[in-house]
Amino acid sequence: MLKVTSIQRGIVIDHISSGKGLKIFQKLNLDKLNSPVVLLMNVPSKVLGKKDIIKIQDSIDLDLKALGLIDPNITVNIIENGERVEKKKLVLPEKVTGLFQCKNPRCITSIDDYAISEFTLVEGDKTKYKCNYCEEITEYKL
Ligand SMILES: [Zn+2]
Repeated sequence: MLKVTSIQRGIVIDHISSGKGLKIFQKLNLDKLNSPVVLLMNVPSKVLGKKDIIKIQDSIDLDLKALGLIDPNITVNIIENGERVEKKKLVLPEKVTGLFQCKNPRCITSIDDYAISEFTLVEGDKTKYKCNYCEEITEYKL
């Protein structure tokens, strides 16, 4: 088993489906952080077979909405004094602002650089979002 220095204080993003870790890393701009950050890929997992894990040695404001959109099954653990003090539940967000683009090329949010995209989750359909401006359905894929 791979040994990685455990963190004393910070955030562990666990149960990331294998292969998504790097994309999440980029999406959340973790490469821009000044704090120590590690990305572990293809870690053996009982549930997922293989998984990715991200460890951040700092208390930062994570965009939980963006993470929930990427995969609501991801777990976010808050670590203090080397122990988990909180496990945050993620959900697929009902409303999404600015996290991705409307697929309709004629949509105002596609044409106007200053218009920020806004979507509402289509009920019962995973990661399918209806544009609040043109009503086009866009499926979110990381
Ligand atoms: Zn639109």
